[in-house]
Amino acid sequence: MASSFCSPRHALFLSSSTKSTLRDCPVRFPACNAFHSRRRLVSATRLKVSASSPAPAVDQSPSRASSRAPTVVEVDLGNRSYPIYIGSGLLDQPELLQRHIHGKRVLVVTNTTVAPLYLDKTISALTDGNPNVSVESVILPDGEQFKNMENLMKIFDKSIESRLDRRCTFVALGGGVIGDMCGYAAASYLRGVNFIQIPTTVMAQVDSSVGGKTGINHPLGKNMIGAFYQPQCVLVDTDTLNTLPDRELASGLAEVIKYGLIRDAEFFEWQEKNMPSLLARDPSAFAYAIKRSCENKAEVVSLDEKESGLRATLNLGHTFGHAIETGFGYGQWLHGEAVAAGTVMAVDMSHRLGWIDDLLAQRVGNILKEAKLPNAPPKTMTVEMFKSIMAVDKKVADGRLRLILLKGPLGNCVFTGDYDKKALDETLHAFCKS
Ligand code: NAD
Repeated sequence: MASSFCSPRHALFLSSSTKSTLRDCPVRFPACNAFHSRRRLVSATRLKVSASSPAPAVDQSPSRASSRAPTVVEVDLGNRSYPIYIGSGLLDQPELLQRHIHGKRVLVVTNTTVAPLYLDKTISALTDGNPNVSVESVILPDGEQFKNMENLMKIFDKSIESRLDRRCTFVALGGGVIGDMCGYAAASYLRGVNFIQIPTTVMAQVDSSVGGKTGINHPLGKNMIGAFYQPQCVLVDTDTLNTLPDRELASGLAEVIKYGLIRDAEFFEWQEKNMPSLLARDPSAFAYAIKRSCENKAEVVSLDEKESGLRATLNLGHTFGHAIETGFGYGQWLHGEAVAAGTVMAVDMSHRLGWIDDLLAQRVGNILKEAKLPNAPPKTMTVEMFKSIMAVDKKVADGRLRLILLKGPLGNCVFTGDYDKKALDETLHAFCKS
């Protein structure tokens, strides 16, 4: 069976227009120089990483933030391309959002936790100096267990009751659960309306808000119902992370670590040095981690929007992780926690296959531990639970489960169904009871 090989060579896909990148990078790390120099040399690329900010990506002084231009990463998808704005105080810059509003009606979709924190600010950003726009909101219950058809219907109920027409804009304000549900609602309401993402968790800022995967869970499988639907823009106001609980913050780091493992060795090495700064919420470290994560995701998405191969590599650890979320119960473990345990299992399997060396396996364990993430599935998960849930995974093709596994030096992976099944069995038995 064919496998897709994912190369760590940044230069292969990257932009020539990254003049701000070195200035923005808070890394005291020589390899980073090499990375950015290589990036500048390459001209034949699809990704545009805009150099709109002459200053570091995050200003620690809120009073100066609103006068600063954001860092912009562009997702290059032809006529569906869009910018990701990243920076501090961006919700205080109404023009950023307003330029992407279509029509006069906006529906903000958020939840009971995020609404008291950021709904008023978001409404101000949408309406300040723009009195023609009227904003409705729908506030959903908070939690992965509510990412379902019942709550999707609440978005449609509000939209129809409010007589929203095809010229309206849906705005997702919250973490990945809200982003995925609001995006799917936007994809299906009146067969598709304008859509904006305002992600407020690390998970959503580094991953779920970018790339247009939207959807809801089914009781039998996570994210089984959904659509590819790209937003008009993603606005990442890094100040929203100030209110995020520590456990949620760590959960998002699982996806940051993923980018390093599958395709960006230098980013992984940076993370090994800078994990204490990330856990301490150092703003410049976070701004850099978000930007570099978004650049990686934007590159992959622009090359393989509908996941015919390369994009699947973003799911390292997710097949095991989704089985944990489905089997253990939605919302019991955070998504990133399940992905972290799943990553350890994928790495264990890669090691059993002889595809990676001992040291790399140890480094993965160490960094996840340092990020305060789990390194094994919940004790109640059995081999049979994993097998039956993984059998309906979206990556099953012709009855064979394809997995993302590490292969070769740090920063390389494969998406393949061509592995010795004995290794998968051994991994499952090593981590859970029969
Ligand atoms: P989440 O949306 O449940 O948010 C985590 C928690 O943080 C929630 O309680 C939320 O209310 C709260 N919260 C959000 N922002 C906050 C803030 N600024 N301050 C305080 N609390 C805040 O979970 P998540 O980790 O953001 O996202 C997980 C979801 O994302 C999963 O459903 C996963 O499947 C999905 N996901 C999708 C993609 C994609 O490509 N579409 C990628 C990765 C993950």
